[in-house]
Order: sequence, then structure tokens, then C-alpha cells
Amino acid sequence: MSHELPVERVMQTGLLTCEPGTPLCVAADRMAERRCSSIIVVEGDEVLGIWTEHDALAVDFADPAAVRRPIGEVMSRPVVSLPVDTPVGEAAMRFAAEGRRHYLVVDDSGGPRGILTQTDVALNQGLEPYLRLREVQGAMHQRPLILEGSRLLADAARHMRELGGDAAVVHCGDSELGILTERDLVCFVARHPGNTPVGELASRPLLTVHLRDTLIAARDRLLDNRVRHLAVLDDGGEVVGLLGFRDMLAGAEQLYLQDLREALEQRDHALAQSRHNLQLAERVIDSSLEGIIITDAENRIEFVNPAFTHMTGFTLEEAVGRTPQILSSGRHDAAFYRQMWETLQRCGYWRGEIWNRRKSGELYLELLTITAITDDDGQITHYAALFNDITHIRENEERVRRLAYYDALTGLPNRRLLEDRLELAIRHAHRNQTRLAVIFLDLDHFKQVNDTLGHATGDELLMLLAERLQTRLREDDTLARLGGDEFLVLLPDLDEIDEVTRIARRLIEAVSEPSQIGQHSFRVGASLGISLYPDDADSAEALIHEADVAMYRAKQEGRNAYRFYRAAMNRQDDRQLVLETALRNSLETGEGLEVHYQPLFERDSGRLHSAEALVRWHHPLFGTIPPGDFIPLAERAGLMMPLGEHVLQLVCAQLAVWQREGRAPVPVAVNLSARQFWQNDLAGKVARKLEAHGLPPGLVGFEITESTLLDKQQQAATLLQGLRDFGCSIAIDDFGTGYSSLSYLQDLPVTALKIDRSFIKRLGDGERGSAAIVAAVTGMAHELGLQVVAEGVETDAQRQVLARYPVDLLQGFLLGRPVEARQYARRYLSRPLHAGA
Ligand code: C2E
Ligand code: CA
Ligand code: CA
Repeated sequence: MSHELPVERVMQTGLLTCEPGTPLCVAADRMAERRCSSIIVVEGDEVLGIWTEHDALAVDFADPAAVRRPIGEVMSRPVVSLPVDTPVGEAAMRFAAEGRRHYLVVDDSGGPRGILTQTDVALNQGLEPYLRLREVQGAMHQRPLILEGSRLLADAARHMRELGGDAAVVHCGDSELGILTERDLVCFVARHPGNTPVGELASRPLLTVHLRDTLIAARDRLLDNRVRHLAVLDDGGEVVGLLGFRDMLAGAEQLYLQDLREALEQRDHALAQSRHNLQLAERVIDSSLEGIIITDAENRIEFVNPAFTHMTGFTLEEAVGRTPQILSSGRHDAAFYRQMWETLQRCGYWRGEIWNRRKSGELYLELLTITAITDDDGQITHYAALFNDITHIRENEERVRRLAYYDALTGLPNRRLLEDRLELAIRHAHRNQTRLAVIFLDLDHFKQVNDTLGHATGDELLMLLAERLQTRLREDDTLARLGGDEFLVLLPDLDEIDEVTRIARRLIEAVSEPSQIGQHSFRVGASLGISLYPDDADSAEALIHEADVAMYRAKQEGRNAYRFYRAAMNRQDDRQLVLETALRNSLETGEGLEVHYQPLFERDSGRLHSAEALVRWHHPLFGTIPPGDFIPLAERAGLMMPLGEHVLQLVCAQLAVWQREGRAPVPVAVNLSARQFWQNDLAGKVARKLEAHGLPPGLVGFEITESTLLDKQQQAATLLQGLRDFGCSIAIDDFGTGYSSLSYLQDLPVTALKIDRSFIKRLGDGERGSAAIVAAVTGMAHELGLQVVAEGVETDAQRQVLARYPVDLLQGFLLGRPVEARQYARRYLSRPLHAGA
């Protein structure tokens, strides 16, 4: 039903109007002429009242003057009006509710535009389906008003009015029936026929329908004949009712009204619902914790919610009209956005994580969903973007990850991460057939620090030590903190076991360095346990356990030390560690270290030529330790430099003493290790040392093995020349054991060659090969202008063989063992002795 049609469209236009002074009959005449059912009484522009067909029933037809009265006296007033744009549906409701037959339809300024009757409304309500289904008998007046033809007009009109009918069937005589309607009465007002019997006035013939005809047939009949009433006949042809337009429509109207009411209720409900929904939606959007942006199809912002403002710092006013690019972080490239728009066009939505920037410039990560909103034709009209700030979620994830894998205090990996890495390293070592080590490190006496200085100091110490330990490790090693004062170290890819012990010692050293925290300075120690893959175990868990067991052993056996899980390795290693520690102590205090001197004699004259300084070390427990044992140890422990320096110091000091005593000492040769030789500014240091002791140049010489000089011949030459410039002699030691290439010696400023004692030893055994070598070496050396020294001469037989070759100097037990300074001086310096004398 077209409830929304305005009444303007269905009202009757061509309004009849008259002045209030117009005689009723004149007005009625115009109504009859125009077939209008009403006339409006106006004065100027003002509507005063209305007179309708129905009012005609009230005219006293017995009084001939009644029809000449001014219409203003009999009209109905005031006239109820409706605006032209009132929906038909609403008008229908008012007809039913207010019981009216007409409404004046007025325009905006109140001017009359037309008349709306109930019939106009009903006819325009699309009732056909209803009329088609209903039968006449359901809609007719059950008891029609029937008048005898002899009744006088005035009496008949009153009767009709009293019974509320708008028409009556009239017996006109000869069983003929006629009809008298309100409209007929209007005509009688116009042309008063006098108060005559209605049988003469009634319209004939009476049009009829059958009881069971459809209402639509009845309506068509009314319209075709331009009448408004039909008599209803039963099967016997008897008039059993009257059917007027209004009756016919009443039922339908009832239905229609019910329908309308439902529709209106539905509409109201829907309206209320949608208003409610809208409010709800607004409230949801407003209070949403998700940021919401609505843009038009061109991506210009039309709306943002408070959460958006909260998260981005941009207010609604600042955002509207701009594009979401105001949030761009610059972190994503053009391809990223291109892909986003592509997905949006293709799928209608995009969801992902995106870095944006707040108004403050701060970056944040959002989880963004963009949905394209389309109209009925599928055209995109808007985009809606919903986002959440997930920066903190990310940060939390990162924090959780860190908590899960890292130690909160030191930032070092925790046990879990170490185990992960250890498992990986084991797989790697298995594939590559290599070794790895796990070191369990536990601080000694850390608890005391914690108890006496407080946990804050304890924590600081742990951080300090963690940092220190870290710097002593190789790049691929992992240092982890297990908690408390326990650490684990993973050393992957070990080439040799020595590497572990070196690192273990370095770690002990790192821990035992003095630590300064605030006012407090203290030393702690560490006990280390070491397990090896694949030697000790092949699972991460077992390796850690065994390292732990070994660490306990280290603690029990005196702390500040390391222990291997495997006892055999410990025995070998313990001694090394003990020696190393002792050597370090000796170097610090100078106790137990001294230099022995062994004389070198001229072969031919037998005169004392020089001496060799040989270091000696006495350990309180192990006794005197041969340099062949502790020099490699010093090399490994990085103690070679201080040791060499110490020897040189002792020698210089001794020479100075002998000089002061007036003993006129011969030169002393000091052995130089490779590391010492290649140190920075060796010549300068030696020069300063000699000067410091007031020694003349030439009193100190050096012995260097050939392998020391081998690979850097050019630099070696420069360095050697620097020493020669102070008058130092330089001998190539242990000659013949290395590469024995004499040609390269040509370019080096050396002064002597010492033939290794292994050759001398074999000379005495009558070995021909040895003699040949000695012959060749001595011959060539002489050609190069080098002195030749035979060392390790133990027997007279050896000396006799050597007499055949051009050997200049002899050194060995036969002529003199290395002895301490005092003895050397007594024997060789105060009164020079001749060999064999
Ligand atoms: P080297 O330089 O070849 O020193 C000679 C070694 O031969 C000394 O052993 C000496 O005692 C030994 N010797 C001398 N005559 C005989 C002999 O007739 N028979 C036998 N069997 N041996 C003899 P030592 O003192 O044990 O020194 C061993 C090595 O230690 C030295 O070999 C030297 O390379 C190194 N060394 C000793 N003192 C120093 C030092 O102050 N600095 C450096 N860098 N190395 C040193
Ligand atoms: Ca030597
Ligand atoms: Ca030697």
C-alpha cells in the first residue's frame, strides 16, 4: 500500500467555494452541477466552514424558506484541515480515529487546495486484491432503509438522518423500486420540489447486485453508472441490503487500517530500532578501544573516533579532510602500500601489521584491518579502518622472550638458551668430528660479599664479573648465567684441549683481578669444572652435569682452580696449573729464579771467551725445574716476556756487580725466545738496560734459534742490526736442528753459529753422517765470516774430533758446567783458568 503517497495526489481539486451569505439553495445548485459532495464557505482568504451532502439531510424540507437561508448559518465549523503533504496513510488513520468524512487540504500558507474524503483515500489504497476476494454479502448493510413511496420528503430525510444512512430504497409502486441518496437531497435543496412523496422523487431504476457477486464487480458497476449505491438481491430476487461505496470500502478499510497500523507500528519499531541501533553504533564507535577511521573512496578522512585521537594524537578536526598518510612512518616501502591497495581492491579487505607514527613523532606498531564499503552497485564508497596499537604487545613478547632466554641481571643468556646452543653445537661437532667443552664456573666466597656488603653490591659484582668473563672468551663462545654465582661457558669447535685450559685459566684470572665497587675493593676467586664432548658425554644435560661435578672437585681441592671431569686429564693438568701459578708468583717476587753461567772457551788457545746465561727455577715443592720444562709453560701462560726481562735484568745486574768488583767480566750471551725477539723496540730496551747498569756495549750478547728468524727475514735483519749497533754479538742457537739453510744467514748480521749438541754427541759415537754435517757447516760458516761454536762437548773424544774442523769455540760439561754466578766468578773471573790446566 502506498502509505507514503501525499494526500495532494488523491484529493479532489476544483474546490467549490461560496460566501457565508450565499443562500443554501444556490450553493447546493453549484454542488449538484459540479457533482461535488461539499462546498467551502470562505470570507476573503479565510475558510469559515463547510457544507456537505450529509448536511443536506438536516434541511427541513417542510419549510420552503429553509433552503434560502444563508449557508453561513448551517455550515459545519471549524473546518479541520490537513497539509498537502500529509501521507495518505496518516490521513486514513485520522478518518478512522476522528470519525470525519472530509478534510480540507491546505497548502503551506493555509490556503485551501482541495477536499479529501474517506472515499478518496479508500479508492487510492490499492484495495483491488481485497475487493476481488470478497463477496457483496460481507460488506452490505444487513438491513437496508426502505421507505414507502408515499412518505413525504421532509419526513424521509429526517428518517434517513436518524438512522444514519446515506441512502434509502424507495417503494415506488407497482413493485418498482427506486433509491433516494444524500446527493439527491442536495439537488432538492437546489431546486426545491416541495414536500412531496418520495415515490415521485426517487431515482429509478434501482441498480442491483447479487449477494454473492464480488465486491470488485459491484465497484465496477458503481463506477460505470456513476452512482454510489446498489441494492443487493438474494437468490429470490428480494432486496436484502444496500451497498454504498462507503460500505463497500468499510470492510476493506478495516483491513487496510489494520494493515496500516501494523505497517506503521513496524515502521515506528524499525525507526526506533534503527535509531537505537544507530545510537548503539555511535556509542560502540565512540567507546571502542580500537581506533576507527572512515574515509571516502578517495581515501580522504571523513571520520575518526576518540580512540584514534588517543592513539595517534590527531583530533577529529585535524584528521578530517586529510588522508591516513598523516600517520605514515616511512618504514614501509612503496611496494608494501601497493600490495595493500591491491589486496583491498581484490578482496575488499586488508589485514596486517603496520608501523605508523604518532603526531608526537613516536613510532608505534598497529594491527590494522581495512574494509572497503560498497553501495548496492558494488562501487566502493568508503573505507573503514580499524586498528589496535600492538607496540606494547610486541614489547611484551620481546620481554617475555628475553625473560625466557636471558638472565635479567647480567643480560647474559640463561641456562635454557645455553642448553639450546649446546644442543646445536653438539650436532655440529658430531657432523664435523670436532670437540667442544662445557665449563661450569662458580665464584668462590661470593656469598660473603653478598652477606657483608649487601645484595646490591653483590649484583654489581656479578655484572662486573660477567662483563669481564665475556671479554676473555672467543667470539663464538657462549657465557650464560645460571643464577646466583654460577655461570656456564660453552666452547664450541676446539682444536686442542690446551685451548680449554688456556681459557679456563684466563677466566680464573679475570675473576681474581681486583674488583672495585663503590668504596669497596676486593678479590674473589672462581672454581671451574670442565666436561668435553665427545670424551665425557654426548648430551647437553650430561655435559652440564659433569662440568658441575668437576667444579665441585675444584672447590674441594682448594678453589680458584679448574678441574676436568676426567681425572686423568686433571693429573696432567694440575701440575701445569700449579707450576704456572708458582712461576707467576716467582716472577712477581723474584724468588726461586736465578741465572747460571756456563763458560765458552776458545778451542785453540783455551782462553775463556764468554759465558751463556741459563735461567734456573727452584720450586719449593718440586725442586729445581729444568728450563726445558718451564720455558714452554711460560710461553703458554704468556709469561715469557716478564721471564725474559727478568733474566736480562739479573744478567745486567750481575755484570755490573762484577765490574764494580774489578773482575773484568767476559761477555754474557742471553737466550732470546721468539716472542722476546719480536717485541717492540727490543734494541732500545736493551740499550737502556745496559746504560742503566753502566755497562759498556759488547758485554751482553744474544742467542736466537734459527726458526725465530725464519719467516720474517727482512725485519729480522733490521732488528739484528739494531742490536749489533750496540756491539752485541748474536749467535744462531741450536743450528742444524731447523732448516739449516746457510744461504739465508748470508744476509743476516749474525756473528756466530752454535752447532747443536745432538751433532756433537754423535761425533763422539763415530757417526759419519754427523761428521760430514759438521764439516760442511763449519766450512761454510767460515766462508761467511761467522764464528763456529760447538756446544754440549762432554767428552775428550768429541773434542778430538772437533779439532779436525774449523771450530772456534767450545762449550760443554767437559769444559765447564753451568754454575751459579758466585761460583762462575770464583772459577773463571778472578783468575782466568785455561782449559785442561
Ligand atoms: P740452550 O740454549 O741450547 O742451552 C744449552 C743447554 O745445554 C743448557 O741446558 C745447558 O745446561 C746444556 N748443556 C751445556 N753443556 C752441556 C753438555 O755438555 N751436555 C749436555 N747434555 N747439556 C749441556 P739448560 O740450562 O737446561 O737449558 C735448556 C734450554 O733452555 C736452553 O738451551 C735454552 O734454549 C733455554 N734457556 C735457558 N735459559 C734461558 C733463558 O734465560 N732464556 C731463554 N729464552 N731460554 C733459556
Ligand atoms: Ca743457548
Ligand atoms: Ca743450544
